[in-house]
Amino acid sequence: MKTSVKSLENSRQQLFIGGGFVAPKAGQYIPSYDPTTAKPWYELAEADASDVDTAVASARAAFANPAWRRMTQTDRGKLVYRLAQLVLEHADELALIETRDNGKLLKEMRAQMRAMPDSYSYFAGMADKLLGDTIPVNKLDMLNFNMREPLGVVGMITPWNSPLMLLTGTLAPCLAIGNTVVIKPSEHATASTLALAELIMEAGFPSGVVNVVTGTGASAGDALTRHPGIAKIVFTGSTATGRRIATNAAANLVSCQMELGGKSPHVVFADVDMDHAVNGVVSGIFAAAGQSCVAGSRCFVEASVYDRFVDALVERAKRVRVGHPLNDDTDMGPLALSAQLAKVESYVASGVYQGARIAAGGRRPQSAELAEGWYFEPTVMVDAGNDMDFMQEEIFGPVVGVIPFSSEEEMTALANDTRYGLSSGIWTKDIDRALRFARNVDAGTVWINTYRASSFMSANGGFKESGYGRRGGLDVMEEFSRLKNIMIDY
Ligand code: NAD
Repeated sequence: MKTSVKSLENSRQQLFIGGGFVAPKAGQYIPSYDPTTAKPWYELAEADASDVDTAVASARAAFANPAWRRMTQTDRGKLVYRLAQLVLEHADELALIETRDNGKLLKEMRAQMRAMPDSYSYFAGMADKLLGDTIPVNKLDMLNFNMREPLGVVGMITPWNSPLMLLTGTLAPCLAIGNTVVIKPSEHATASTLALAELIMEAGFPSGVVNVVTGTGASAGDALTRHPGIAKIVFTGSTATGRRIATNAAANLVSCQMELGGKSPHVVFADVDMDHAVNGVVSGIFAAAGQSCVAGSRCFVEASVYDRFVDALVERAKRVRVGHPLNDDTDMGPLALSAQLAKVESYVASGVYQGARIAAGGRRPQSAELAEGWYFEPTVMVDAGNDMDFMQEEIFGPVVGVIPFSSEEEMTALANDTRYGLSSGIWTKDIDRALRFARNVDAGTVWINTYRASSFMSANGGFKESGYGRRGGLDVMEEFSRLKNIMIDY
């Protein structure tokens, strides 16, 4: 892998099409910013519709190429295993690249990258397990069976918050099953996906099996979602963008997998170990500076311990060390974008205007050292109403609102009073109550006495406006393959 933080500095990054780097046809480039300094650090190609067309044509040619289409399942699986090894070898450099691009903590990005190869290996094992079935038919001497086959070209659009980790759960099974891919990474964190494309070639995948078109959503992203040569779109990003993409895809009757935003509830009962629950709520919202789709941004606390919980949460939030993402002792880095910082500030202000009170944080850190970057303090808002804008809309920042509840019914109603349904968490020693919550909450994931735990071996995804389709687990084989029915008279 030639791409490194050093090689990226002040460079111009091209598109990755047909197995190599190519310049965008219109010659347009846009800057990628370092969130710790708010300064550009490299430029990426702004692909337009004609570049996207070339990338899709390359992926279609690769899908038809016998070198890929007629490769045995075992050999295809081996290629994905080889990619897993290469990702492991380059995990630390990939982590550095992402930290530089999106400002997330290096230690977190390292942990993600070092865990990713296991995920590639798991999905590699799917290559030779794409089973069909035989079906009875009401006629003698007739064989009736279903076989599964790949879909064709899958378009993948990713966000900036964990570009490679989020890509893995769909890219790895897609390749293992035999699809080809065009990826459009976020314009705010592009470089790691280009580096991965190099590793894909190094692993030995035929040219054109994976292509990367870079640039803004309005240009490259929009063109990809309107392209009739795509068989499926996998989108991870905001609900507003997901809605636009689903509309574009519908015009071509192209199916989508949508991994969208969240406004996840975190529920705390009086019977828990308070420190344990406070730590869980803190990491649920302040990890990644709240820039996580599963961020537990609405916290409901049993009224009898509300004051005690809020005091402990405020005290703990004030101890979160905000700092440079490369420092090992930093707990929370900057926001990734200036627009994100402005959004967080405006939601805090609107919360105060609507009657909530800032109990911790609520502003940019005062230290001169952090003045340049897009930093914001861990923020706890109390006296909140669940109908306030900052409690209903996804902020994607380090802001949690806390509300007391008096009964399980009230708590469930509050937890479900949102248009989102991505994840949820409950802290209680009462397992019956926890399971009742799990049954009644409208969320694709339920955490009991933990938060943000995840496994590529289970299906993850959203309910309601948090999306549809699943990433992870064996179910994903159905997402990226289609059934064909065959009948033989013999
Ligand atoms: P975003 O929707 O702004 O952008 C996501 C991607 O879509 C980017 O690559 C962007 O360039 C592209 N895009 C933007 N407009 C487009 C258009 N009109 N057509 C095609 N593509 C377009 O999201 P973001 O700010 O990058 O990421 C944050 C959002 O992602 C949050 O809402 C977060 O909850 C969500 N997210 C969800 C999951 C999940 O698994 N559910 C995971 C991570 C992030």
